Amino acid sequence: RELYGIREWGAGYFGISDSGELLVTPEPGRFDKAVSIPEVIAGIQERGLDMPVLLRIENILDTQITLINESFRSAMSGLGFKGSYLGAYPIKVNQQHQVVEAVTRHGKKYHHGLEAGSKAELVAAMGMLRDTEAVLVCNGYKDEEFIDLGLHATQLGFTCILVVEMPGELPLIIERSKAKKVKPILGVRVKLSAQANGLWSESGGDRSIFGLNATQIIDVIDRLKEADMLDCLQLLHYHLGSQIPNIREIRNAVAEASRVYAGLVGEGANMRYLDLGGGLAVDYDGTQTNFMSSRNYTLDEYCVDVVEGVMTVLDEQGVDHPVIVTESGRAVVAYYSMLLFNVLDAARFEPDPLPEVLPDDTNIHIRHLFETLQSLNLRNIQECFNDILYYRDEVRQAFSHGKITFRERAQGENVFWETIRRIATLSRDLPSLPHELEGIGQALSDIYYCNFSVFQSLPDAWAIGQLFPIMPVHRLDERPTREGILADITCDCDGKIDRFIDRQGVKRTMPLHELKETDEYYLGAFLVGAYQETLGDLHNLLGDTNVVTIRVRDNGEFDFVSELEGDTVEDILSYVEYDTKHLLTRFRETAENAVRDGRITAGQRRAILQAYKTGLQGYTYFER
Ligand code: PLP
Repeated sequence: RELYGIREWGAGYFGISDSGELLVTPEPGRFDKAVSIPEVIAGIQERGLDMPVLLRIENILDTQITLINESFRSAMSGLGFKGSYLGAYPIKVNQQHQVVEAVTRHGKKYHHGLEAGSKAELVAAMGMLRDTEAVLVCNGYKDEEFIDLGLHATQLGFTCILVVEMPGELPLIIERSKAKKVKPILGVRVKLSAQANGLWSESGGDRSIFGLNATQIIDVIDRLKEADMLDCLQLLHYHLGSQIPNIREIRNAVAEASRVYAGLVGEGANMRYLDLGGGLAVDYDGTQTNFMSSRNYTLDEYCVDVVEGVMTVLDEQGVDHPVIVTESGRAVVAYYSMLLFNVLDAARFEPDPLPEVLPDDTNIHIRHLFETLQSLNLRNIQECFNDILYYRDEVRQAFSHGKITFRERAQGENVFWETIRRIATLSRDLPSLPHELEGIGQALSDIYYCNFSVFQSLPDAWAIGQLFPIMPVHRLDERPTREGILADITCDCDGKIDRFIDRQGVKRTMPLHELKETDEYYLGAFLVGAYQETLGDLHNLLGDTNVVTIRVRDNGEFDFVSELEGDTVEDILSYVEYDTKHLLTRFRETAENAVRDGRITAGQRRAILQAYKTGLQGYTYFER
């Protein structure tokens, strides 16, 4: 039950039932309200949807928004902060309509707003947001159309803030505001010198590609003064990067930004909002450390440190407390989605049994391998390891030079793997493993072939080595007896997961249950709500998965709120510019030619065409 570290990474949302099923609850720690994931899977299948499925638990999103807002409120009241807090969900973190709709619906209670980083995101935000007390922060590079849209939002009564990201934007903003006779609310994005360590933290620091340095900000002030618009400047923004694991870096940035904020007040700007961007990390591996996939602080600590950091500087400078804005995305949506998939097959690295003695005509290189195996003991592990690598190379070379047959080569490899297996078993009794043998367990681990695409559903696992918690969603009352890595169905050698969360950091295999012939084995990848959906790509033309959203009721029952069917083959082909009608016409002709040549009958042609059409309408993933 402790094997998969749920207690550490699950933030109270996940638990295990007495019958070994994974449970999920929308209220952390309240397992009387929990839902069994295998039960949800059964419901999904009854509705005719196949795996893989992205499952969203709608009320987890509600809970996360509540937690962030309440935590800021309590930090502010505890510390006597006189400003307030407003969240702005950055659409880029998960742009799906359902997600933004859920954020704005539940966020209304807290006037939780939106952040848009492009025209398309702004168009989406303007259509989705109804709450004029919430902020609508516009980041990203802005052309005339973007600026005009923002100004229209202001005309409609939205608190729409145009954040100047590069010096060239300002003259256009001034010109468009004057032309439209709209008084805009402006912000500036500052390049802080504080920098953070993290996989996604390139956005901070002097060399960051976004934002203005001190000289450029002073220039913005002077230009606004000239245009008689300095009172429009109300917000200071920075973004240190996403997933900042170390609270010290967050505090340093807050302190520096607060000084800049006070400086802007001193310059006569009408400052009201201090926007810290994103960065609030998610503890994916549950280690509560400053590892990249974790964070060494709690949400409450983050809020207290931010509020205290702002107060310390501003009180010292005699500046009024601002509205603190954060653009947390990851922390809002990560917990709310999980990817569920079935295992299709498993490959084991188990050598065939070896004979007691080799036949007399056995090739010399294979004989050397065999003798090495026979001499193996606890004291000569390293020596035998070196020898078998050498002899295996000899076998391979002999094969390349045509001196042994393919069957003999297979025989040699079999002895090699049996020796590796025995070395792995023996080395468990060693006090410490020689450096070279460290990966030996992984070399022997199983490969579980899973019905999903890493590139489509967990792109960050492939692109930047991000860790996600992954575990079986049932049979959790049964000790797993296998160790394995996961391969997806893209047939790309990068289409695998071989780095898993671990209390010490990362491990190279995960415990898995033996597959049963008659039953499906289901796994889940968790905390995948942030960034994964739209970053995913169509590698091998595997498309969007089915998406199912449930809402858990107070009594622990649940409703299926919505289901979105994943891409069909036809959808995917059209994304890459195929005209499927044209494809079908061509295929009909190919089949007719085959009839003409006498290769198939007209009846066979009909069946083949039918299969082709069914293929076009089918799911892009493996269907049983
Ligand atoms: N704000 C801006 C400007 C960003 O670029 C990002 C993403 O990197 C975010 C907010 C969201 O960050 P996070 O998901 O860490 O909360």
